Amino acid sequence: MIAHCLRVSVSMPCSEHDRKRVMREDLQRSLRQRREQHRYRTRLTVDSPQGVEVVIDGRRLLSFCSNDYLGLARHPQLRQAMHAAIDRYGAGSGAAHLVSGHLREHQLLEEALAEFTGRPRALLFSTGYMANLGVIGALLGRGDTVFEDRYNHASLLDGGLLSGARLQRYAHADSDDLERRLTASRARRRLVVSDGVFSMDGDVAPLRELAALAARHDAWLMIDDAHGIGVLGARGRGSLEAAGLDTDAVPVLMGTLGKALGCFGAFVAGDEVLIETLIQQARSYVYTTAPPPAVAAAARAALRLIDAEAWRRDRLRANIRRFRNGARQLGLSLMPSDSPIQPLLVGDDADAVARARALYENGILVTPIRPPTVPEGTARLRITLSAEHRDEHIDRLLEMLG
Ligand SMILES: *Cc1c(COP(=O)(O)O)cnc(C)c1O
Repeated sequence: MIAHCLRVSVSMPCSEHDRKRVMREDLQRSLRQRREQHRYRTRLTVDSPQGVEVVIDGRRLLSFCSNDYLGLARHPQLRQAMHAAIDRYGAGSGAAHLVSGHLREHQLLEEALAEFTGRPRALLFSTGYMANLGVIGALLGRGDTVFEDRYNHASLLDGGLLSGARLQRYAHADSDDLERRLTASRARRRLVVSDGVFSMDGDVAPLRELAALAARHDAWLMIDDAHGIGVLGARGRGSLEAAGLDTDAVPVLMGTLGKALGCFGAFVAGDEVLIETLIQQARSYVYTTAPPPAVAAAARAALRLIDAEAWRRDRLRANIRRFRNGARQLGLSLMPSDSPIQPLLVGDDADAVARARALYENGILVTPIRPPTVPEGTARLRITLSAEHRDEHIDRLLEMLG
């Protein structure tokens, strides 16, 4: 069989069996390469609720790598809201929103999100990844152009690619580069898209400049505030509140419910035309089952806590200050971030992995982030802080880093 193949062609296998073998060998080779490059990704299994202390392999670890910035994921009010909704509505929603899966809990959450963001309407998506794929695809198509910050979240870049629009990536947080590209563009429809808080660096986008540029060049602006909602702004409304930008300046606001809100899911908030367009055309909204109603109920409880427990934001800010001051004294290379995302740049992939392992052995959980998630040569320890960290937790982390 093999001999026959070789006679016909060296590179082209001649039977289905051989083609399958080629596929397996290719996959094995790329897995091996990943391992050799210290880029192999693995998972840890956690045997406790999310929190600043987690249990892994029977050991209690101090965690600095959750996006549960306010400590809401196991808050009693979220759990109660979820239990009550399960008792009333059961587990699954049973269908897509446009069929029979749009339950009262989803509707109430959308109304609460519109109110929370101060926008006419909001639309619930199952995940942030899906929201970003759906929105860009619904707004743009062939002949249009989407301008994205080079460091945007993968879901925004994927959304841009999938939309069929021309994708232009401008230099990170570089308004001049964006302006040059907008000036040169002939596209009739243009959408500028940026993370509000960049997920791997923790810095905030130059939002007022982006808004001014979008206005001047007849582009719409979309901000993904996955890491800003609940955390930034005097009332926890996110990076747009902090920058003082309204629906007119930023027509498309996307936020997630799985980070500071401690639940799961995402939303897009904007005006009537935007939301109705998404309901008609966002494929990741139309062709998927609505999230479990209990998740929506928990998210609504989280929104109430953002107002009722403002001390969580204050506490988080104090923790960020304590960490940065301590790290500066140790001479660690901090990034310019005032958000709960405080990465320590390491550079080399193997180094980042070794440092994370050393911390793990000392009871501290921090994830090493390597390419392709971040640019080549910028592997880092992505430290994230929570309102639930106490001073002694932060001091212990600093001591270990020192
Ligand atoms: C986490 C994240 C997403 C994806 O949200 P999920 O709800 O986890 O799918 C999108 N954008 C940014 C900037 C994120 O950090």
